[in-house]
Amino acid sequence: MARYTGAVCRLCRREGQKLFLKGERCYTDKCSVGRRAYAPGQHGQGRKKVSEYGLQLRAKQTTRRYYGILENQFRHYYELAEKREGKTGEQLLSILETRLDNVVYRLGFASSRPEARQLVVHNHFSVNGRKVNIPSYLVKPGDVISINEKSKSSEKIKSVLEMNASRPIPKWLEINREKLEGKVLALPEREDIDLAVEETLIVELYSK
Ligand code: SF4
Repeated sequence: MARYTGAVCRLCRREGQKLFLKGERCYTDKCSVGRRAYAPGQHGQGRKKVSEYGLQLRAKQTTRRYYGILENQFRHYYELAEKREGKTGEQLLSILETRLDNVVYRLGFASSRPEARQLVVHNHFSVNGRKVNIPSYLVKPGDVISINEKSKSSEKIKSVLEMNASRPIPKWLEINREKLEGKVLALPEREDIDLAVEETLIVELYSK
């Protein structure tokens, strides 16, 4: 399945919550979720009874879109989560949180996950001193994520850092603003992840 290239605000309206796909705009009153709080399309404002399957599907789609993951890759993460100890749904979210593009976003080195993905692909980051340009790279406790020396002087990176300087950092990460690097202190737990989704619905969907 190809990556979605349409208007991303439609995705948030479809899922009925902010997915933070547009950066700065998401934090302003220009955000479409507040202004048009109904699903997009001709039947968006109609009242519909949602089936159990519908709820499960929406939970999966919301999570997939929040992290910008394609269907097959999402299924792969689910299989990975099943192999881990603990609740599969929580493990799934924990794995998704540790993707490098998400960590770059959480550290405030990008304004949105799509932007983080692009910055990673364009070689702006290192993990433990080695350049990594793979957005799906999974970080682990102890890893240090830094902005590459050459990229620190980039106007783009400077403006992104300035814009996101006041964004709170989750407690499983630590940031050193002088060195422009972040450290993974622990694996994220469910309470650390602010995505409003019932992850058990995803497990039910994939367990059929
Ligand atoms: Fe658009 Fe961002 Fe609001 Fe989503 S959260 S509707 S991407 S402005």
